[in-house]
Order: sequence, then structure tokens, then C-alpha cells
Amino acid sequence: MDLNTVTEVVRRPSERPGTDWREGDAWLAGGTWLYSTEQPDLRRLIDLTALDWEPLVLTDEGLEIGATCTVRDLYAFPWPEDRTPGSLFRASCEAFLSSFKVWNAATVGGNICLSLPAGPMITLTVALEARYELWAADGSVRFVDALDFVTGDHRNVLAPGELLRRVTIPEHALRRRTAHRRFSLTRLGRSTVFLVGTRRPHASQLFLTVTAGTTRPVRIAFDSLPDARALRQSIEAVPADVWFADPNGTPDHRRHLTRHFAAEICRELTAGDPP
Ligand SMILES: Cc1cc2nc3c(=O)[nH]c(=O)nc-3n(C[C@H](O)[C@H](O)[C@H](O)COP(=O)(O)OP(=O)(O)OC[C@H]3O[C@@H](n4cnc5c(N)ncnc54)[C@H](O)[C@@H]3O)c2cc1C
Repeated sequence: MDLNTVTEVVRRPSERPGTDWREGDAWLAGGTWLYSTEQPDLRRLIDLTALDWEPLVLTDEGLEIGATCTVRDLYAFPWPEDRTPGSLFRASCEAFLSSFKVWNAATVGGNICLSLPAGPMITLTVALEARYELWAADGSVRFVDALDFVTGDHRNVLAPGELLRRVTIPEHALRRRTAHRRFSLTRLGRSTVFLVGTRRPHASQLFLTVTAGTTRPVRIAFDSLPDARALRQSIEAVPADVWFADPNGTPDHRRHLTRHFAAEICRELTAGDPP
């Protein structure tokens, strides 16, 4: 779509962009959302993809994902066999509505910063306990837990001129066992719910991350493996106004799916445990 209020595109921003941020500016990443709808308030786009940020760096501390890493590159990443969640990464990339047409250009950072409930890069990084590095317009840097970044449908903690620079997934999370379930009304449709369970090997602590069905990500932490009643109660405890309503599902439908899939995830993550 032509953005006919935009009069300037900064193709080569400085290495530390944001210092001359002004009203009407927007960061441009893959542009798959920015160019898909009218943007009457925008006057200038600042292209982050020109900055050549390293897309993926696997270190002893974990995995660093540059905000401009494309979903395509994340999908193609060759996972070492001793790191477990390769299938979760692939499922998260496949969770985009319309799939490959969007992944080729869409970036991990763009997906997170758009902050839609069905943002699969949000699901992935919250489930794997990631931390986000944010650069403010005044040159300062802060770090935010992925869980705390999205605050509602299309809302997050970014201040004007602040950008997401990188996502770091800690090493210990890359070694957790994971199980996930996703439901959408059509095969390539937007997620109605997307749940991920993670468990430390040989430990009973279990995290359940609920997304897409809720306006912001919800993490339910269990210190010991929950029985059916504890699981149900923890889902009932999610505040009523956090369940999301849109054409892909009512809050009741989403709560019902969450209960169903959470039980399946717990069974999968406890399969093989001694009775
Ligand atoms: C057919 C189609 C299907 C889609 N399916 C889905 C879906 O299933 N789930 C979903 O969540 N979205 C979906 N989208 C929306 C969008 O394409 C994706 O969220 C995509 O990942 C956005 O990434 P991008 O790099 O293209 O972001 P852009 O369009 O470039 O930017 C998106 C927003 O994030 C801001 N931004 C980008 N990068 C940064 C950064 N590093 N720091 C701060 N702000 C930044 C931009 O200013 C803009 O406001 C879909 C879009 C289309 C057209």
C-alpha cells in the first residue's frame, strides 16, 4: 500500500538511531505490517534493516537474535543437537498467518514490537525466558523481560523513539524440554491460542506460557508438576479481561482451548516420569 503521508525514508540511519526522533517517525523493519495498512500519522520511516545487525549468534550464554533477523533466517537456523527447542522455533515461524509470504521479509523485532496477541515471536521468546535490549532516543539502554514487554493488544512498554535492539534467550532455557499446542480456525489462519510448556530436565518445575488467547502473554509457573485440578485453577485465575476477543475466538472459547491444551502439554512433558 502507498503510504502517501510519508515524505522521507531514512535509508542509512546512524549506528545509534533515534537521537533526532520526532513526531511522525516510525522504525521500518520488514515493512510487512507498516505497508499493509494506512498509516495517516506517519511522516518519516527510519530503516533499521540497513544497520547490518548480526541476525543470530549462539554463544555459551545462549542465543542472541538481532531485532532485524528475519523469520526466514530464524526458521533456517541449524540447531545443534544438544539444544532442544528447534521444533518450537520452527512451529513459531510457521504460526504466521499466510506463512511464508510474510516470513521472507518479516523480522523478529517487528513482530514483537507490533505486539499483536497472535505474535508468534512473542510466544517463542516469552516461553524461553528471553530478555529484550531496548535503546532509547537519549542513548540509554535498558533490559526488559520478554514477559513484561507486551502490555495489551498492540501495546507495549516502548517509549517514543525507543527501539528493540536484540533478544537474548538464556542457555538454560535452550536446554528445557518443550511442548506446544496451537489452534487456528483455518490451516494458515491467525492463532486463536498458542501455548508452550517448558520443563527443566529431571526437575519438576514447569512453566506454561499462554498467548494469542490473551491480550498479553501470561506465564503460569508451577514449582511441582500440577494435577488436573491445580492446572484448571491456575487457568481460571487468569483475569477475565485478559482473555482476547476477535473474529478468531471468543474469550470463553479461548479459555476452553487453553484448559484442554494445557492438560495435553502437561501430559506430554511428564510422559516417561516414574509413577
Ligand atoms: C498476510 C499477513 C499476515 C500476518 N500474520 C501475522 C500473524 O499471524 N501474527 C502477527 O503477529 N502478525 C502478523 N502480521 C503482521 C506483521 O506482518 C508481522 O507482525 C511481522 O512480523 C511484522 O514484522 P516486520 O518486520 O514486517 O515489521 P514492520 O511492519 O516493519 O513494523 C511493525 C511495527 O513494529 C515497529 N518496529 C519494527 N521493528 C522495530 C524495532 N526493532 N524496535 C521498535 N519498533 C520496531 C514498526 O515501527 C511498526 O510499528 C501479518 C501481516 C500480513 C500482511
